[in-house]
Amino acid sequence: MVGFGGPECDGKSFIGLDLMLIGISIMSSSQRDIDVASYLSEIEKIVPQLSKFDFTGLPGLAQRLVQELKRELNSKESLMKVDTIVPLLEPNSFESLIWAIGILTSAWANWVFSAKANDPHYRFERQEAAMNAQIVLPYVEKTILSAMRASEEIGRNPQNNFRPENIRKLIRIEKARKRYVYYCEKDKIEVETDVPQDVVCEKCSQVMPLEYTYEE
Ligand SMILES: [Zn+2]
Repeated sequence: MVGFGGPECDGKSFIGLDLMLIGISIMSSSQRDIDVASYLSEIEKIVPQLSKFDFTGLPGLAQRLVQELKRELNSKESLMKVDTIVPLLEPNSFESLIWAIGILTSAWANWVFSAKANDPHYRFERQEAAMNAQIVLPYVEKTILSAMRASEEIGRNPQNNFRPENIRKLIRIEKARKRYVYYCEKDKIEVETDVPQDVVCEKCSQVMPLEYTYEE
């Protein structure tokens, strides 16, 4: 049985998953960055509760993330203080806790759809679920970003006193249009595709690693 969280999770780990998590940790090894993989693995530990709609484990993780965000923002910006308090950015600040929960749940959702779409073991054992994950994945990030942008516009609108009541704010449910850029270091050749795929270098015939992705 395979699982990436959700009710089907059995708590086992996969080689593919482990490699992915190692990759993410290496990329964010700088002390001043926030390690997303460590939060994803903490969420994985409470997935059995979450899948029973018991969300009591989330605020603790979110508080930790708020501390990290506060530390990073403090090092980059001149945050205002009242005595020693940084209003809105303390670990018990409701606004920042909701922000952190948003980061955690958005990251976990995008990871779980990505992993379920890509992991060959999962694709073998849960074919339909894996195919749905592949279909839904391009919508996940896009819907989160669209909802965030729409909400920011509501918060900027004096005509409605900056509030969401008694107005409509629609978001279009559409796919993110992403481009995948592969690069052969040796031959300095770059290839772009619409979907992730195995790309072979025309000169050296080696599989080209994914250099980066971007949204159109
Ligand atoms: Zn090459």
